[in-house]
Amino acid sequence: MYGTLKQFLVNEISSLHDQKLYKHERIIESPQGAEISVNGKKVLNFCANNYLGLSSHPDLIKAAHNQIDSRGYGLSSVRFICGTQDIHKELESKVSEFLGTEDTILFSSCFDANGAVFEPLLNEQDAIITDALNHASIIDGIRLCKAQRWIYSHNNMSDEIGEDQATGKELKGLERCLKEADSAGCRFKMIATDGCFSMDGDIARLNEIVELAEKYKAIVMVDDSHSTGFMGKTGRGTHEHHNVMGKVDIITTTFGKALGGASGGCISGHKEIVEWLRNKGRPYLFSNTVPPSTVGATLKVMDILMASTELRDKLEENTKKFRNAITEAGFDIIPGVHPIVPIMFGKYPNCSQLAVDFSNKMLDEGIYVVAFSFPVVPKGKDRIRVQLSAGHSPEQVDTAIAAFIKVGKELGML
Ligand SMILES: *Cc1c(COP(=O)(O)O)cnc(C)c1O
Repeated sequence: MYGTLKQFLVNEISSLHDQKLYKHERIIESPQGAEISVNGKKVLNFCANNYLGLSSHPDLIKAAHNQIDSRGYGLSSVRFICGTQDIHKELESKVSEFLGTEDTILFSSCFDANGAVFEPLLNEQDAIITDALNHASIIDGIRLCKAQRWIYSHNNMSDEIGEDQATGKELKGLERCLKEADSAGCRFKMIATDGCFSMDGDIARLNEIVELAEKYKAIVMVDDSHSTGFMGKTGRGTHEHHNVMGKVDIITTTFGKALGGASGGCISGHKEIVEWLRNKGRPYLFSNTVPPSTVGATLKVMDILMASTELRDKLEENTKKFRNAITEAGFDIIPGVHPIVPIMFGKYPNCSQLAVDFSNKMLDEGIYVVAFSFPVVPKGKDRIRVQLSAGHSPEQVDTAIAAFIKVGKELGML
């Protein structure tokens, strides 16, 4: 009897529209890249996670084709029955080399990796201490696990208890949580954090986290989805950026962002952890293997990134250029070094509508950027989130800057 559920959904969907929370999807009619085609119009894309410009790179497409020719389209199996090819093992060992870890286990996505990583390692005798702004997939992974939970206020390393300004709730610093987990007599303690937080583009203070982990005998898990491939001087991630390579116990990351952008993810770290997860990680045991085309292209990405830092260097230059010019123009941005550049609207009246109007006008100027409002970000923190790419030419970055200034003047912001 679908009738009552149908009526419920119709009402809920209409309420999403009323609250302006309904998610509209713009349709792209071209490959992903710096320049895309939307509604028959060519625009420059400044809102993809295509940080290294590899999403439609000819060498990756060729590598994917080659593996379809030599290893086929799909494996029709999970890894432990008949889903492991030589190239899967090769990719696991290349990713380990790249991240500076002992071993790596592949997943269909990083969402699955985060769903697999907590439950087999920790139970009710243990503690997970998690940043308040961690990604949905970390939150869901933790929900699958019986460990006791402590949530620390975002990037706050302190031994204090404070009030969260957005919610008024009590929030503790990381060190306070570690002490409490100690007092509770927890067997193992795991600190879980995003490497880079995608809404603000800020970086976890991994050097301090690692120090606290040593002091309180905790292990450290970092989800580096928004950093693998370009953060740090050779692009290994936030652990390289903060000079703590080899000191992070578990790294999860995605192949769906900087590393080619198709799909796939992994957990990388100590060999015993990886071995245990191959036996116990449910999304690994009960979900299909990564297809050969994706494995082949990701192998190619590893080769490109280990041969040269050209792409991450170019991304860094584009990021600096954009951040400097936009700040000089008088826009309010969250300072930092990450290619995620949030342009903030909170200080203007009617900021939610202004951000939406701004992004629509930008599309008329041929620049594709998106406005984020509550509940994706806190009230009053409305923003346009720009993402730079190594795929952007310096001229394309200039074009975007000029469009921002033009629209900013038209809307009375500058
Ligand atoms: C994008 C993202 C994921 C999900 O990655 P998929 O491979 O697309 O599932 C997980 N964690 C973080 C922090 C992310 O930004």
